[in-house]
Amino acid sequence: EAKRQGKNQYVVFDARMRGEEVSRMYLESELRLALQQDQLTVQFQPIVDLDVGEPVGCEALARWKHDVMGRVDTARFITVAEDTGLITPLGRFVLEKACATLGEWLKRPEVPQDFYVSVNVSPKEFYSGDLVPFVGAMLDKYRLRGANLRLEITENVIIQHDREAAAILGQIQALGVRTCLDDFGTGYSSLSYLQQLPFDVIKVDRSFIQGLSDKQQSREILRAVLGLATALGMDVVAEGAESPEQLAEIRALGFRWGQGYGLFHPMDRSKLASLLTHPSTAEQS
Ligand code: C2E
Ligand code: MG
Ligand code: MG
Ligand code: MG
Repeated sequence: EAKRQGKNQYVVFDARMRGEEVSRMYLESELRLALQQDQLTVQFQPIVDLDVGEPVGCEALARWKHDVMGRVDTARFITVAEDTGLITPLGRFVLEKACATLGEWLKRPEVPQDFYVSVNVSPKEFYSGDLVPFVGAMLDKYRLRGANLRLEITENVIIQHDREAAAILGQIQALGVRTCLDDFGTGYSSLSYLQQLPFDVIKVDRSFIQGLSDKQQSREILRAVLGLATALGMDVVAEGAESPEQLAEIRALGFRWGQGYGLFHPMDRSKLASLLTHPSTAEQS
């Protein structure tokens, strides 16, 4: 980045670059404000047991609707948050909101007591040292069991720090909380990796599921991942199934769990609550 080359260097900004810098700074300051003013929300996307066709849990996904910009793409503001340290308060906000919401749902007798919410954790949070105590505090505060919570971590988090990562994963699991390897297949992972790291769940990236229709390769990769993970005692969730054909394929391959627009879109908590309490009347969105 030109800016970092030092004062005496000849630095060229073209208009587009300056635009990106400005909008990044704007995003950062607006995001800081949004966090202070409680303007972020959380949506929940059901994760479905494909044998039964019903949600067994959900993933919590951060949402930001800005007065001027409208809805800001989640991956975009998460990146800004990760680059600026705002991910720590953001992550805590989402984790607490997810636990509080699930605590409310579980008061209803219709909701299975092992229903879970799965929360994304960024590298900075994962290695912060106080993730585990914070998670423990949330379970206590909202009277959840460890089985009600899952934490999703992308494989790139783990790659350089195997030892430390394994230790933290162990501490999370000691709370009874399951650990999920998110977006599996997009990073530098190899299958042998699965054996070294003690994840409970693998979420296979949607690029493989969406590649099913035209790539025989995707099918073979999915078959291999499912076989090995299952042999190692891990659960496998297929992410991003959109079409009925993709859903049929992942079921035929033997996937037990799925998450994708073809099942349910992310939804507000009130909508998921009515889906869980009146499954037949809630419309699938
Ligand atoms: P992710 O953890 O892999 O979450 C799944 C993403 O795929 C979500 O995007 C979801 O809306 C989208 N998705 C679900 N089903 C389908 C489908 O059938 N087709 C397609 N094309 N997309 C589908 P979203 O909500 O935009 O989030 C993007 C990413 O941002 C997440 O990917 C996750 O890495 C990150 N993220 C979201 N919320 C949080 C959070 O609270 N904390 C952290 N650290 N990261 C978060
Ligand atoms: Mg995720
Ligand atoms: Mg994912
Ligand atoms: Mg992701």
